[in-house]
Amino acid sequence: MASFDIVIIGGGSAGYVAAIRCAQLGFSTACVDEYLGKDGGFALGGTCVNAGCVSSKALLDSSSKYHRLKYRLANHGISVEGVGLDLHQMVSRKDNIVRNLAQNIESQFKKHNVSWYKGHGSLVDPIHIKITPPEGMGPEETIKGSNIILATGSSPNDLPTVKVDGNKILDSAHALDFQEVPKRLGIIGSGVIGVELGSVWKRLGSEVVLLEAMDKFLSFTDEEIAAYAHGTFTSQGLEIHMNARVISAKANDRLVSVNYEDDDGHHTLEVDKLLVAVGRRPHTEGLNLDDIGVLTDEAGDILVDAHCRTNVPHIYAIGDVVRGPMLAHKGSEEGIMVAERLAGAQTSVNYDAIPWVIYTSPEIAWVGETEKELKAGAREYKIGRFSLKSNIRALAMDDHEGMVKLISDKQTDEILGVHIIAPTASELVAEAVVAMEYNASAEDIARIVHAHPTLAESIREAALAIDGRSIHG
Ligand code: FAD
Ligand code: NAD
Repeated sequence: MASFDIVIIGGGSAGYVAAIRCAQLGFSTACVDEYLGKDGGFALGGTCVNAGCVSSKALLDSSSKYHRLKYRLANHGISVEGVGLDLHQMVSRKDNIVRNLAQNIESQFKKHNVSWYKGHGSLVDPIHIKITPPEGMGPEETIKGSNIILATGSSPNDLPTVKVDGNKILDSAHALDFQEVPKRLGIIGSGVIGVELGSVWKRLGSEVVLLEAMDKFLSFTDEEIAAYAHGTFTSQGLEIHMNARVISAKANDRLVSVNYEDDDGHHTLEVDKLLVAVGRRPHTEGLNLDDIGVLTDEAGDILVDAHCRTNVPHIYAIGDVVRGPMLAHKGSEEGIMVAERLAGAQTSVNYDAIPWVIYTSPEIAWVGETEKELKAGAREYKIGRFSLKSNIRALAMDDHEGMVKLISDKQTDEILGVHIIAPTASELVAEAVVAMEYNASAEDIARIVHAHPTLAESIREAALAIDGRSIHG
């Protein structure tokens, strides 16, 4: 029986990064993964690479270029005629990126001598893992791990009355592979996936209707930024119905009929395709956790401490399968932390400085606490705001929708949260993350020389605005 210092179950953003780091540190390492790619073969990289971050961002970029070329260049004095859409090529380009990235992880595994076991992993006891490939794809085998890291990710939530059929009623993976642009696309849930994939298909020509159960849009973002985003997305043509309670959805050959209620009463919505995007749940099926005694909470998350240790010695869990935001970079950092702690280092993850990004147009990005969270606490705070309409680079780009909101402690001026809606907010937020990692004050940012003209100057202007010193705002 093959025996390893560390066996990782799951080869997604959390698991494959943990595997590479473990191997770099000199541990004999194996990674067990069962993901089958679009071509039916085993593929490393999990959700993020194969049907998540990478695919959605590839399509977001393509659709953004198409939309810009078609509708947004006239103001620059550029007229464009005959703009065409080859959806097959757009999706193939995305598939090529995904395939190359999955192969690159495989190459990294080879380079670092990580053994890749293909199939479903389950715990036989706290040190043995049985690997079961799908029928006809290899023999079952059992390996031994002195330490085990569970990194089995998450799966889409489903709704009892709306059955995903993969044809008309879809989850996010299906909605990355449409063969044609749906005339009318319904989306249940206006969370991150709802607005990102809604934006992709809206830009490519679909009418997009989002049905959201809550009365607050993007309730996990800062309320002011969420309100700004709601206005912007609505003006872009996304039809967003809040307080919508979906009762049922039925598909026939042509359409999907969705019955829902909102404050105005009962409605029937007819769409060509319906995407269900109502959150994700930790994926632990078939791991045999109960028999081994690994504890989970009521949401199904594997219970871990701040260093991702489960209640069973030598078993760790990281990524979407544990508490915290379901973000690729959060899982990867947990993988590195566990690997380094196994090697004797004191690495930890700063959960207070994990950036979030929603890749819409404009993008939304933030780090730290929202104003609402701060209001609920005892700490007094002050706020600086800056509108992109006063940023010279944004004006030059003709891309000036957005704002920066910077919140700092009223007494110490320490930065507590930075909330951005702006083009390339995903890149801008990195400055705020560095600042928060170093416990910087708003004054520190205000004193840093920012190149001119750049979008990053908006962060500095928001910092200056904390004390009413903004130059352009
Ligand atoms: P996963 O990536 O889900 O990997 C788990 C792996 O384990 C999978 O390969 C699975 O097949 C395998 N597995 C599960 N059980 C077993 C088992 N018993 N035996 C063997 N293998 C098993 N996050 C971002 O940070 N940025 C983004 O832009 C972003 N965009 C997203 C877009 C979409 C449409 C979706 C759905 C998600 C997106 N996410 C994004 C979230 C991100 O994909 C996840 O947070 C990330 O993939 C979690 O990594 P993970 O390794 O924990 O799990
Ligand atoms: P989400 O939690 O972002 O949004 C789900 C939305 O569905 C919420 O607004 C919720 O109120 C709503 N909802 C729940 N039940 C409903 C119902 N019955 N009817 C109508 N609305 C309902 O989840 P998601 O959009 O499915 O994405 C899942 C996770 O994947 C995210 O939480 C995020 O962690 C990750 N993700 C990240 C990115 C990124 O980092 N850019 C992109 C996509 C996904």
